Amino acid sequence: MPRMLDVSDEVRAEIGDEEADRLLAGETAPGSYDCTSCRTPGDAEQERTSTVLFIGDETAVLAFAHATCLPSQVVQVTEEQLRGAVKSITGDSAGAPAPQQPEPGRDGHDLAAPGQAVLGVTSGLVLIAGELHAALVVEPTTPIVRPGTTGPGDDFLPLLIEQGYMPVTELSALPPVLHGWSALLAMGQLHAVLQPGPGGGQPVAWWQAHQPLLVTDGWRAAANKHQQVLMFAASVGSIGRQPREDLLRDALDKAAANGRLVAAALPLSGT
Ligand SMILES: [Zn+2]
Repeated sequence: MPRMLDVSDEVRAEIGDEEADRLLAGETAPGSYDCTSCRTPGDAEQERTSTVLFIGDETAVLAFAHATCLPSQVVQVTEEQLRGAVKSITGDSAGAPAPQQPEPGRDGHDLAAPGQAVLGVTSGLVLIAGELHAALVVEPTTPIVRPGTTGPGDDFLPLLIEQGYMPVTELSALPPVLHGWSALLAMGQLHAVLQPGPGGGQPVAWWQAHQPLLVTDGWRAAANKHQQVLMFAASVGSIGRQPREDLLRDALDKAAANGRLVAAALPLSGT
């Protein structure tokens, strides 16, 4: 019986027609799997399933996701992330319990850069209008100047506002959805924040996890429930490293009150 598998052209180009056809014929695809995005069980015979090919520096791993969580695609990762994926996929097919995730804590600072900017990215749950939402807080470590100019000044928030982010004065309502942008959850972790590609092409990474940005089960559950992640961006020096979620919230409230916060709701990539 044909599986409800989706193999994108991009994935097909990497694995070759022969392997793609064997997958579609059900010869090599697993019936059940743990979704690489939301980490809950899926069944390729019962529901639409995406093939997701993770490519590291030297090796590649094919994984599966609910089509509602992630479209079939190729995801570039580091070898280290890839080893994590192999472990999890091997564990699943052996019927073993999923490998224990390192306790994430919400101090998942990651240093990666659009251009030369260095951004701190932190995940946390934020309560808005009585509901918990998965949030990302992005703060540069130095002032960001407009490309082609030299300081002084900090154009980080104006640049994001030009892209459609909205200034936030208090965290009382959800920010509007920013179409064309998305958050890519893969291997149960936040992999990238994508922005519209130049000239309306394929989305490109605005921020790419340099090391896995671990998120908690609660964060992942909130992201999957709402099918979106709230991204808050603050100007340099306004949030800092906050060891607890209540302190992160205080810092966000303060940055908002001081006019140093912008936000948008980013759909999960593929939704
Ligand atoms: Zn899923």
